[in-house]
Amino acid sequence: MMTSTIIHEGAHYVRLDIGHYASELPPFHGSTVTTVEDVEHGKKFDELNASEAAQNAYSYAQFPVHTHHRTDFRFTSNSQ
Ligand SMILES: [Zn+2]
Repeated sequence: MMTSTIIHEGAHYVRLDIGHYASELPPFHGSTVTTVEDVEHGKKFDELNASEAAQNAYSYAQFPVHTHHRTDFRFTSNSQ
């Protein structure tokens, strides 16, 4: 979980327009997110299109896990 947080925050740092569209948790559909600006995009993680996913910080934390394990393995509060 700590690794995914570092990658998530790193995505915000690299590009300021990377925000929050949807959380990857709970598996497997994820959940909608309300931003600090009080905006809710209304889509769950598995409903994002490619453009939305590219602007979603939660996507950057999941991408290396998915490509390494070649499956939809989600970080949870019990994993590292
Ligand atoms: Zn964030």
